[in-house]
Amino acid sequence: LLTVTNLKKQYGDKIVFDNVNTQVKQGEVIAILGPSGAGKSTFLRAINLLEAPTSGQVVFEGNELTNLAEKELDILREKIGMVFQSFNLFPNLTVIENIKLAPMKVKHLSDEEATQLAKKLLMQVGLAEKQTVYPASLSGGQQQRVAIARALAMSPDVLLFDEPTSALDPEMVGEVLNVMKQLAENGMTMLVVTHEMGFAREVADTIWFMADGGIQEIAAPEVFFETPKTTRAKEFLQKIL
Ligand code: ATP
Ligand code: MG
Repeated sequence: LLTVTNLKKQYGDKIVFDNVNTQVKQGEVIAILGPSGAGKSTFLRAINLLEAPTSGQVVFEGNELTNLAEKELDILREKIGMVFQSFNLFPNLTVIENIKLAPMKVKHLSDEEATQLAKKLLMQVGLAEKQTVYPASLSGGQQQRVAIARALAMSPDVLLFDEPTSALDPEMVGEVLNVMKQLAENGMTMLVVTHEMGFAREVADTIWFMADGGIQEIAAPEVFFETPKTTRAKEFLQKIL
């Protein structure tokens, strides 16, 4: 579904990552782990070219994104959903309006079609009764679930999550992870930057460990957590587990 070849990103003299080569299969769930500053967020944004890579290739569904004009890129980006740490809902729109906006504007769904879709998605994330309220009246966990529903409204082929639970109070982390777990079980392809090791271990098919300017290890969770290969990963796991 997605292939990254020799990807590099630098800001001025500072190389964030270099020589990154990896692949994502349809339906695969990747947990991207690594210390702060390792370049996880930058890498995630480089995948859909929200951040222009310095060099290298990103190929998504057979299209080389790194070689496309902005207009063609926008069309493919519709297939790559994104969920951030800070929900980013539109505060002046109700929950259902937040979800309907992109499908109506971009995909030209009718108001009726978009409403049906939004209702279905709100049901899926357990917020059917919150359609007409504004984001500010929701808890962080509820807002994040709305953000997930909004991303799903574009029928993405892959979802990118950047620390989706890091801004949440501990008691709300579970409800968001449960929604993500359900998506994974339903076959959604997902790349998840996370510090939730339980989720990484239980839900991910593959761990990417990022540190020191690149992906240092690619392994199944049981392999990564039981027998990390690099010193860097051993240190990281010692600190957090
Ligand atoms: P965290 O776990 O704290 O979110 P991260 O792994 O997501 O960290 P990034 O946010 O990708 O790390 O940052 C990687 C490095 O790139 C950092 O050293 C950061 O200072 C640098 N960086 C990120 N964005 C920019 C920018 N726009 N300009 C200059 N340097 C940047
Ligand atoms: Mg980050």
